[in-house]
Order: sequence, then structure tokens, then C-alpha cells
Amino acid sequence: MLQPGTGRKAFSGKKQGMVWQRVGFTNRYTQAAIRKVLISSWLLCAGSMPTLAQLSGYTVFYGVTTQKPTQVSLRKWAFQGRSMYLLVNPQTMNTSVAALPDNAVRRATQTSLQQQFGRTAYVKALAVEKARDSNLQDAGIERADTTERGFSLTIDLCPSTKPLTRSVFENLIAAFGDEEKPIPVTITVSGLWMNSHQDDLAYLKSLSARGDLDITWVNHSYHHRFDPKRPLPVNFLLEPNTDIAGEVLLNEQTMLQNGLVPSVFFRFPGLVSDKLVFDRILDFGLLPIGSDAWLAKGQQPKQGSLVLIHANGNEPVGINDFIQLIRQKSASIRNKQWLLYELPASVVKSEGN
Ligand SMILES: [Zn+2]
Repeated sequence: MLQPGTGRKAFSGKKQGMVWQRVGFTNRYTQAAIRKVLISSWLLCAGSMPTLAQLSGYTVFYGVTTQKPTQVSLRKWAFQGRSMYLLVNPQTMNTSVAALPDNAVRRATQTSLQQQFGRTAYVKALAVEKARDSNLQDAGIERADTTERGFSLTIDLCPSTKPLTRSVFENLIAAFGDEEKPIPVTITVSGLWMNSHQDDLAYLKSLSARGDLDITWVNHSYHHRFDPKRPLPVNFLLEPNTDIAGEVLLNEQTMLQNGLVPSVFFRFPGLVSDKLVFDRILDFGLLPIGSDAWLAKGQQPKQGSLVLIHANGNEPVGINDFIQLIRQKSASIRNKQWLLYELPASVVKSEGN
């Protein structure tokens, strides 16, 4: 059920290999540039048609690394006979992928992790979300560090037949490129978008590789089902018979196969959830993110906002508003009175760490 389909279009026509990247902690106040550590090379089929590497036995696996710095394991799978882990640093909330021997990770329960790491930003943020009375719409973290002189930009890539709106990224780099390099952005991605936009995905990865963008990748569900005729309580992930585990884990596998390291965040399709599905996402160790500034809906960003725009070709109004906004703010951007913030670091700060 959780195995991605075979025969998916290859990551890149001539690419024979791809690498895992560890997404380093970006501290807005001390960082010069994002730390990117190559963990291991991930060879694709040599010779004939390259295919996306297959993951096997992908599963939720809670544990703690035995080596310092102590990290929490969220997932485990096998690749070419090696055990692979998706890890989160509970202090920084940054995630990474590592190939580790089995004795390097001690299995743990979610409850024991909450006790052991109760003072860390990650576990504190999970506890805050567990206590939240979930709304039907826009539940989750919707505003981070309110002392910031700017906001976190989140860009959704829901399934779409249209190409990526590359002008968003071109404008971002033109506006912020001299002041912030790389520019922190959060991109939420759905499996169906990745499958049908391999060139656009390669474009985004190239912006990251050349140091223009520092991308936090967020799971936006695999299918992102939506029926315009259905009322919200039975739409998106609330559609009856939705396989929530499949939507979460299959999308993570697709992200990993495409060389993206999933973050600890999750964005509900349509920003629609209820208490039951919200708590199920938390049970996967993921933090739902909402938005208090969906520009296409006329909501204005505040300090520390999570601004939402769609760059999947389906939201020209929001994109125009965003481009207008950064043009208006150009003087403030130049003198660093107005900045974009990396989401994990901003959430860490809002948790008082
Ligand atoms: Zn969406």
C-alpha cells in the first residue's frame, strides 16, 4: 500500500546519481550560509534508463541515536541493504537522512521521547499542538516568532496541470538576493505535483544548490484530493475512506526519492482538518502548519506571520499581491528592516528556546 508506483518518470534524464543532503540549522542571527552536509551518495541504476531509487520497508520508527548530537528518529527504511533513518534534531527542529547501523538507534515510544526531550523546542511544539482546539480550517501553527521584522513565506504546490510560477522565485531572488542569501522559503509539496513536474522540481533544486534558496520541504499529502462540490467536513483529507497513513508516508517516500528531506511540518490540503485527523498527523511526529496571511484571500502579513501563496499556476491573484508586496517593501528589504525567516528556526524561537 505504501510502496510508490513503479515506472515513475525519472528525476533527471541523464542523471546517474543523486545525493542526500542534510539540511543544516539556519540561525538567522548567526548564520552566514546554510550548512549542507552530504550524507551518502545514492546511486541510481547505472546503464540503461535511470529510475528513482526504491525504498523498502518504509515505516514509522521512533528512537534515539546513541551518538551525539542526540537525534530523534521518526522513520526507518532499507536501501541497498542499509538501514536509513529520517532524524530530527529536537533542539533545532531540523531534519536529516542518515544511513546508520542498527545499534546506533535505540527504539523508543512517543511517550518516552516526550519525557526525555520535554524541554526541547520540538517536543514543546508538539505539546502545544496537542492541546490546541482544532478548527475545521487553518488549524496548526499559523504564526511563529512575533518579534520578527518580517515573516516566513510558505508556498504550496498542490496538484496542478499548469507549470510552476517561476516568476515568484525570480522576484524573490531579485528582491532579497543581496540581503539574504540563501533566502529561506518553505515549500509544501504534494506527490501528484512532484510526479508531473519533474522539470520544475529540478529547477527549484537548482536554486537551492546554487545557494539562492534555503528550502524547508513540507509534506502536503500525496493525492491532495479535492472535490469542489463537497462541503468542507467531507472534503480534502476529511473525505470518507481517506487513507491518512498512506497520504503521509507515501508522500514522504516520494519526497525522499526525489532527493528532498521532509521537515517535521505538515500542511493540510485546503488547510482543512478536524480534531481526529489533526491528532493523527501529530502521531506521525509532524507539526501541522496553518497560515494567518493567505494573500489571495486578502489577509495581510504581520510580524512572524506564515504567509501563504500558491505557485502551482492556480493563484494569479495571490502571486500578484506577493510581487506587489515585495516591491512596496523594497526600501525596507534593502536596509534589512524587512526579512524572510526560516520556519524551523522561527518556531524554535517562538517556543522560547
Ligand atoms: Zn494545497
